[in-house]
Amino acid sequence: MAIIITDECINCGACEPECPNTAIYEGADDWRYKDGTSLEGKVVLPNGNNVDADEAQEPVSDEIYYIVPDKCTECKGFHDEPQCAAVCPVDCCVPDDEHVETEEELLGKQRFMHPPE
Ligand code: SF4
Ligand code: SF4
Repeated sequence: MAIIITDECINCGACEPECPNTAIYEGADDWRYKDGTSLEGKVVLPNGNNVDADEAQEPVSDEIYYIVPDKCTECKGFHDEPQCAAVCPVDCCVPDDEHVETEEELLGKQRFMHPPE
């Protein structure tokens, strides 16, 4: 399950540098699959979607920090717990019921974005 940032976010920015997948962006900023990952050019995501990893994507939110569900692994593969939730001063990084995934799926996403050398 991905994590989502609720509208209680105070835009402090503490979570962004903690994300091992670069899945967190400031409101109104474009995002890319390639940011902070090994992805480049045309790729097929684990969910079967074809995307261009280099292409700028529309912000998920224009007002508050946001998390890209396709890039969030709930920190699986890197940490024992979601790092954004651990540092957020107002506890607004919560499980996203719209993006429920198994641990295996989350680890698969992590390996896809960060293949072992
Ligand atoms: S749970 Fe981890 S991977 Fe997901 S947005 Fe938060 S810090 Fe990034
Ligand atoms: S740490 Fe919490 S309050 Fe601060 S920007 Fe991230 S989600 Fe918003």
